[in-house]
Amino acid sequence: MKEELMFCPECKKAVEIEGGVDAQGIYSKCMRCETRIEESHLPVTVKVLMLAFMEGEIREVRIPSLFIVDVDTYLNEVFRLGQNDFQRVVDRCSVSTGDVIIDEIFNEGPGPDYYKVASFGFEKMTAEQLEEYKKLDCRDRLFHSLS
Ligand SMILES: [Zn+2]
Repeated sequence: MKEELMFCPECKKAVEIEGGVDAQGIYSKCMRCETRIEESHLPVTVKVLMLAFMEGEIREVRIPSLFIVDVDTYLNEVFRLGQNDFQRVVDRCSVSTGDVIIDEIFNEGPGPDYYKVASFGFEKMTAEQLEEYKKLDCRDRLFHSLS
């Protein structure tokens, strides 16, 4: 079982939190930087590489930080709120199967993690796999599988 995670606006990451009670009531504190995190709904911007129908333009999707509790919830919200029905972005398609979500919130390494939107769920990609994937013709990407 995972530790409880929240989005820390200081670290700009999903962080493990420490809970407690003080004079102001119940609080959650970032275990990395010690900042007190309010039950905030502040929007967090996530970048999506549009590779399904566009040539790698970036679409920014804003999701409320309360969805940043685990990777699956977060990726699903990026997908859901990346639909033009929710957040219309001029000259950008909705986030679709074949696009790649750039994760700079749950990643543990220095670089981001990459998640390709698959027919069911998301497939994690390495930076090398992403480079190979980008080289494919737009049409081939749709049928490309990592395995
Ligand atoms: Zn922090």
